[in-house]
Amino acid sequence: MTQTIDVRNPRTGKVDYSVTPLSRDALASRTKDLRAGQRRWEGLGIEGRAAAMLALCAAVDRHREAILEALCIDTGRYEMSVAEIEGFKGITQMRCATAADALAEATGQSSDPSLRFVQQYVPYELVGIISPWNYPLILALIDAIPALLAGSAVAIKPSEVTPRFIAPFRAAIAEVEALRDVLEIFEGGAETGGWLIDLTDTLVFTGSVPTGRLVQQRAAAQFKTVFLELGGSDPVVVLDSADPDTAAEIIVRGATENSGQLCCAIERVYVHQSILPSVAEHIVQRMQALKFNDGDIKVGELGPVIFHKQAAILKAQLDDAVAKGARILTGGALVERNGGVWCEPTVLVDVTHDMAIMRDETFGPIVPIMAYKERDEAVALANDSEFGLSAAVIGDEDEAIAVGRQIHAGGMWINDFDTMGGVGARAEKNAFRSSGLGGSRYGYGGFMRFMRKKAIVVRAPQKTT
Ligand code: NAD
Repeated sequence: MTQTIDVRNPRTGKVDYSVTPLSRDALASRTKDLRAGQRRWEGLGIEGRAAAMLALCAAVDRHREAILEALCIDTGRYEMSVAEIEGFKGITQMRCATAADALAEATGQSSDPSLRFVQQYVPYELVGIISPWNYPLILALIDAIPALLAGSAVAIKPSEVTPRFIAPFRAAIAEVEALRDVLEIFEGGAETGGWLIDLTDTLVFTGSVPTGRLVQQRAAAQFKTVFLELGGSDPVVVLDSADPDTAAEIIVRGATENSGQLCCAIERVYVHQSILPSVAEHIVQRMQALKFNDGDIKVGELGPVIFHKQAAILKAQLDDAVAKGARILTGGALVERNGGVWCEPTVLVDVTHDMAIMRDETFGPIVPIMAYKERDEAVALANDSEFGLSAAVIGDEDEAIAVGRQIHAGGMWINDFDTMGGVGARAEKNAFRSSGLGGSRYGYGGFMRFMRKKAIVVRAPQKTT
């Protein structure tokens, strides 16, 4: 028997929803159906599959109000919920436009004129996706889109913390006949996630490092490849050539998007000592202008802590930093409003790498600032982390690129924050260190994850004289 899972509303703290996951047998039966549908789906060709995906975008538009309402309750925030729906459509359109090019089979000749080859791409029958709660819709679909276009069937298991969007999204899928038997979203928690690893051929996991390790181990025991998209503690280096207010604008945007509940949020700030007072002052002013959305969900930039257990982690990190000598310039508290918990926009100075806030992932609207004297010191501090998701460098462009080249991270934002969306149709990046494993989620690599390569090597008949 699977247990019903209670779901908390992040704005009220009340349990007002629940999901009952399928049993293992029922899940196995549904994934078998998906495998059965895959051959027909692959047979549609790229054009046919792209047409179905664009039809899904239109169906999502028809169900937009219900999906948006569910996402708003799941996450307690409005603008970013709208952005998730628009982002789903934008990524789908972009992937549909590039799929034919990305999946084109190569042919080639060898130095032996009688030998030639065709590079065939063979999609996995069934791809699994396990996703987290911070962007429930976009992270459930971001890898499913290229997997479907590649010709695989897809089984998705979003986070049990934010499952309300699943039912209305499922209703949109049901309107696209070609997708009905190749795309399914399953409710459930860790147990269902584990079964999905067993029942699929390859899997993309987006979530925390500890769970990623468990997923990797379970898949490895079955000789399956998994792609891991994990956590981060992204640094920013502010060069002495940076304009302090421009730097502050980028940092505050990077630290507070989705209220800091973002894998690539800016979580560590290293500023050249000559401009630190000015940069810190501009950051404080900008942070103090941010408001909670605790009254009207549409008013205020900062939403509640989506997953209630995260609030205790934020508090523990702040307490640890202060106990070890950090000074709070603004914020510093977790505030309860109507049963939900909001984290004050917080700026800290006098931080060190002995503090959990500089070592661990934070996931809150918190900016810890540290001074550096020499460029090499800034690079060493940025690299002093178990993570390597992404990083930013702000200042003179040539110098910023030179510094960025030395930082161990897969995404490097020069004079901006998280600009991958603008170039992700072609640009690729890996997650370095503990931030992930496997080929690029972006660019053509994002399709290739779901393909096995077959070399068809042809020997032409030898001429006899
Ligand atoms: P989590 O690891 O707790 O859970 C992620 C998913 O794994 C959930 O769907 C959960 O049900 C499932 N799960 C839990 N235990 C499992 C198991 N043993 N086997 C299979 N599945 C299991 O992560 P979270 O708290 O939901 O998400 C926050 C984390 O996700 C943060 O670390 C964040 O940085 C990371 N994240 C990474 C990216 C990225 O693209 N790199 C994006 C967003 C979030």
